[in-house]
Parts: sequence; structure tokens; C-alpha cells
Amino acid sequence: MDIGIEEVVQLTDPFDVVVIGAGPGGYAAALYGAAAGLNIALVEKATVGGTCLNRGCIPAKELLEAAAVHRAVASAAEFGIVTSAPSVDAARLFARKTEVVDKLVGGVSGLLKNRKVTVLEGTARLGPDHVVAVTGGDGSTTDVVGTNVILAAGSVPRTIPGFEIDGGVVLTSDDVFELDHLPDRVVIIGGGVIGCEFASMLCDLGADVTLLEALPGLLLAADPDVVRPLQRSLAKRGVKISTGVRVNGHTPGTTGTTVHVEGGDDIETDMVIVATGRRPMSDDLVDASTGVVVDGHGFVEVDDHCRTAADGVYAVGDVIATPGLAHIGFAEAMLVVKQILGERAVPIDYSGVPWCVYTQPEVAWAGLTEQAAKDAGYDVVVSKHPWGGTSRALIIGETEGTVKVVAQKRPDGSPGRILGVHLSGPWVTEQLGAGYFSVNWEATVDDVASLIQPHPTLSENFGETVLALTGRGLHT
Ligand code: NAD
Repeated sequence: MDIGIEEVVQLTDPFDVVVIGAGPGGYAAALYGAAAGLNIALVEKATVGGTCLNRGCIPAKELLEAAAVHRAVASAAEFGIVTSAPSVDAARLFARKTEVVDKLVGGVSGLLKNRKVTVLEGTARLGPDHVVAVTGGDGSTTDVVGTNVILAAGSVPRTIPGFEIDGGVVLTSDDVFELDHLPDRVVIIGGGVIGCEFASMLCDLGADVTLLEALPGLLLAADPDVVRPLQRSLAKRGVKISTGVRVNGHTPGTTGTTVHVEGGDDIETDMVIVATGRRPMSDDLVDASTGVVVDGHGFVEVDDHCRTAADGVYAVGDVIATPGLAHIGFAEAMLVVKQILGERAVPIDYSGVPWCVYTQPEVAWAGLTEQAAKDAGYDVVVSKHPWGGTSRALIIGETEGTVKVVAQKRPDGSPGRILGVHLSGPWVTEQLGAGYFSVNWEATVDDVASLIQPHPTLSENFGETVLALTGRGLHT
């Protein structure tokens, strides 16, 4: 364990908070708590930044941006810009990803240091009386005590039978970020967020992609009206998509492998990416005598304030059964720190949180889908608009996708509260803010329709879609 003599003395005193795990949930708790003057120890067994910075959001978005650059160069002639056909320099591609990751990891480490958070390297386990045993790489164990403890141990990729991960031919998302080459042919198992983002990125970078999903559709949590344009676009770009299929293992060959699809043709491929979800990393995290309850799926059980059953022990991020998103980890971390500080802490309304998928076209939403709103008993009115009539979308040459607004229908038939905003199209992950605020501030259609959208911008499409619900559109 890399700690000096002074720090050892300090470890005998209790910290205000001991945080286990330095991913978005854990490092956010440490930074936010330290900014308020709390004395914090943060224990991490791998690299500060967790999944998001090292093996998730950040490297994935960086590689997706490389794919966007490839698309831009490939379509340059349409704008009258003459280039040669783009090709991929995989070494540089992955090197840039690493540079961006390293810079951000360094940034978080710097913030922790500036706020005087004590960062301990090792694997932590919570025992009785808030004692956290930290075992370092050399096998030595140090106990640290926190008046409060926050469990933020994160998650790992979930795998499926018949596809043992070898990191070369059969990979999880973790392994993809360690590659130094791109596959010519790839089978992706799982059509959720990771599967769709990898399919979009790899097809744009020239791979022959097959996407296999067990359920009847891709991105099933999203409104189907905004997923359809993504599915169409992937298919147009050559991705072979099969939904409602089961895979029955694979037979390795001399180079790649052959994936067996139940009731379907075998698929020869160079690489298989298993993107079938993630599971909480709670193995051996807490002693049963602490009172903390871990459910049958491995999630640490918490109430709506992220409190576990043990007094003064909280859990945030992927280790609890809330949406596995970095920004949810941030929000949960702040919720917990406020409680520790004795401040008012309002539980998170998980039905309104922002979701962003960085495919081409992007998909983003907040609030209820049309079906979820109906299931919740709302009478709804819906407005949908494509991008073809939005000047900025035509200018940038990206008109795939739809903007959809779901609003409550009042008894007199007029549109009331905006219940859900669902977007697919250019830069919609950056545009979701307006929709997120509308849903969470419980804005009505009239509230939003009276606001001005700058022209020409992509954000006009959201404004026009809401305006149309008043019965009088402008450009629609
Ligand atoms: P997911 O739950 O979004 O999708 C997994 C998919 O795999 C599901 O659609 C499931 O039906 C399918 N599946 C499961 N077993 C299968 C099988 N045997 N054959 C075929 N399909 C199978 O999980 P994910 O895409 O792996 O993402 C993991 C986590 O990471 C999620 O919590 C996700 O929200 C998060 N994440 C978020 C983003 C983002 O917000 N942009 C990006 C990446 C990951």
C-alpha cells in the first residue's frame, strides 16, 4: 500500500467518510464531500475513474468520435471538399483514446489531491463498526474507520454460458478498449446500449458487423419511434441485425470462431463481443454481520436515500439496482453527502433521468415513453418531427432521426404537462438538456412553446415539435 508514515498515524483516527470505489459514484462522493470540508478516505483497487473513465463512457465516446471523423471524411465530397478515401490507423486510433483517458484520470486524481482526499490503493471490505479492511497488492491489510461509509464498488460485464471470455476472440467491452487492432468481422451479442454503440462505431470504421439480440428489439428501454431510425441507419450501413435470437455457443477455428445461432445459420467471425449487461461488483464487499443486505442479483439494497440497512452505511452507483449510468452515480453521491452533512436531500426521481446513447444517429431521452405514459394512466397527446425540415440538420447533412414529445392530454383535450422527450438524430445527446428540464420542471406545452429557440440551430426541432402540440406550428 502506497502510504507514508504521516498517513498511517492519520488512519488510526476515524475519517468522516470512507468511500469504497473510485468510479463516478465514489470519486464524486469524495470530491463533493471534501469540498464541504469532510475528511475523506477513498479506497480503490484499480485505477481512479472506475469503469466510466477507464473502460466505459469515455473510451467508448472517444472511439465513436473517431468513427464520426471517418464518416465526415468519407462524405467530404458531398460538400465539395476533395480528399482521398479515409483509412484507419488502428495504432493511432487507440493511442488517442488512451491519451484522452489518461488526461481525464490525471484530472480526477489532481482534484482529489487538491481537496486533500486520502486515496488508498487496495481492495476494501466493510466489517462491523464501520471498519474497512484495505488489502494492498503486497497482501498487507490496514484498517480504516469511517463515521460514515459509502459503498461504490461498481460493476463488471455480465457474461453468458458458451462464450468464455479470452480477451482475443471472445471479448467483453473491457477488452475492446485494450485492443490494438480492429476486427474485419465481428459478432456483437446484445443489442442494448453497449451493443448498439459498438455496432455503430465498428461499422463506420469498416468492420463487417452482426448484431444479435435475444429480445424482440434493440434498446428496449427507449421509445420505439426514436430507435427505429437508428435501426434503419445501422442496417443501411451494413450491420446485419437479428432480434429475438438465441446463441448456442461457438466453435473456435484457427483464427476466428463460428457462432451458432439457434434455428439460424452459423456465423463465421474474427471476434465476438459479449455485451449482455453488467453485474454489481459486490462479491466479498461486506461482512454479513454489518447488517448490509445484498440481494440475489448481487445488488446492495438501499432505500430511496441510498441508505443501506446498516446505520451510516450508504451505497451508490452500479452496485445498487438503479440505472447504470455515470451521471446517476454522481447524483446519488451528492444525495448521500448532503445527508451526511445534515442538509436537505431530495430522493432522485429515476423516471425522469437523462439517457444518452452515442450511436449514429444518437438517441437520447428523459421521462416517460408514450407507452409508459399510457400504462401509468395518462391520456396523452404526441407530436413527432423528422429532421428534414430543420435547416441546420440539412446544412450539416444529418437528417436521420426523429424528435418526439409526449404530453398529458387535459380533460378539455388541450395539451398539458410534458411527460417525455425522445430524440434521435444529430447531436441529440447535447440537445437533451431542454427536454430534461421540461420534464423535470414539470413544464407544460404552453410554457415551452412560448420560449424562443435560436435560428438556425438543431434545437429548433424540439421547439417546433412542442409548438405543433398547441395546434399551430410554424414550419410544420
Ligand atoms: P443492456 O442491459 O443495456 O443491454 C444488454 C442487452 O443484451 C439486452 O438488450 C439483453 O436483452 C441482451 N442479451 C442478454 N443476454 C443475451 C443473449 N444471451 N443473447 C443475446 N442478447 C442478450 O446492457 P449493456 O448494453 O451491456 O450495458 C451495460 C450497462 O452499461 C447498462 O447499465 C448501460 O446503461 C450502461 N451503459 C450506458 C451507456 C450510455 O448511457 N451511453 C453506454 C454503455 C453502457
